[in-house]
Amino acid sequence: MKTGKIALVTRLSPEAETMWLERLSAVMPGEDIRSFVTLTPDEYVDIEIAIVANPDPAHLAQLTGLVWVQSLWAGVERLVAELGDFRPPIVRLVDPELARTMGEAALAWVLYLFRDMPIYAAQQRASQWVQHPYRRPERTTVGVLGLGELGATAAMRLREAGFNVAGWSRSLKQVQGITCRAGEDGLEETLKTSDILVCLLPLTAETRDLLDARRLALLPRGAKLVNFARGPIINTPALLAALDTGALGHAVLDVFAVEPLPAASPEWSHSAVTVLPHISAATDPDTASLIVARNIEAYRADGSLPTAVNLHRGY
Ligand code: NAP
Repeated sequence: MKTGKIALVTRLSPEAETMWLERLSAVMPGEDIRSFVTLTPDEYVDIEIAIVANPDPAHLAQLTGLVWVQSLWAGVERLVAELGDFRPPIVRLVDPELARTMGEAALAWVLYLFRDMPIYAAQQRASQWVQHPYRRPERTTVGVLGLGELGATAAMRLREAGFNVAGWSRSLKQVQGITCRAGEDGLEETLKTSDILVCLLPLTAETRDLLDARRLALLPRGAKLVNFARGPIINTPALLAALDTGALGHAVLDVFAVEPLPAASPEWSHSAVTVLPHISAATDPDTASLIVARNIEAYRADGSLPTAVNLHRGY
């Protein structure tokens, strides 16, 4: 095993790339971490590890000696899609702090919908004093699509807050206090019974357009939806049509097919949509740097790699 340089390959702003270079170098003083753009072609071949954030796939492909790629993000959909035939193992960020942040976001935005905050905000703008009935959380079912690192944590936070929680995943899970389902029947049952639906699935060939007009129509009338995963999992025209007719009550959207959301997009001005600029759970540079350092330390010690993304499954 070589102990050569590590390449930092990103399409971040120069300031953000410098910040990462400093943080990573600080927690790995024994490693020589270099921005890809400062490497010479002679140095490419000796590089076994690339730490990446939105990398240019053409840059990665020039690192012909790569053994593995460590992503600074939890979601690696774009990286997997862009890699083409050059497919070294990709290790995504698995960070308990990120899961905690996403659990907090799930709780915050579910409570926003549960306590009718969008309705009261609209009423205030119209100087309307109208009290809506309160329904206890245990009488409200929150469906969570995806029970992975983030979805399972979100489901547990919602359960702790008193909601009736149901989760759906590819393989059937067992999570204390949560009704777990899998398969198409499990999805349909989850949709039919969810007052609020939270999406925390990865974007794959199977989940693209998963929430289309037919499946959205299974949700109870007036149901609300939160998408923290990836925009293309939900069919946007079908979602907007369901919000227009009142079939769905409100959508909190943190992710979009095109980001930043273009100014002309109808979501910006839709009264039943809350637009968030992809903020539900950002990577924490402090905790992420330490996790990356631990992964690299283990690799240097005995060549072991953390669990890599299953490129066939797409997540
Ligand atoms: P993960 O640990 O890989 O979990 C994914 C979950 O989705 C698993 O439970 C998996 O089922 C399930 N799943 C995948 N494909 C499925 C299918 N076809 N049918 C049913 N269930 C399926 O991923 P994670 O760390 O929780 O992250 C989830 C996603 O969150 C990321 O991919 C990313 O898109 C998004 N994210 C968003 C933000 C943000 O700020 N908005 C931040 C980080 C991540 P199994 O358990 O059976 O494998």
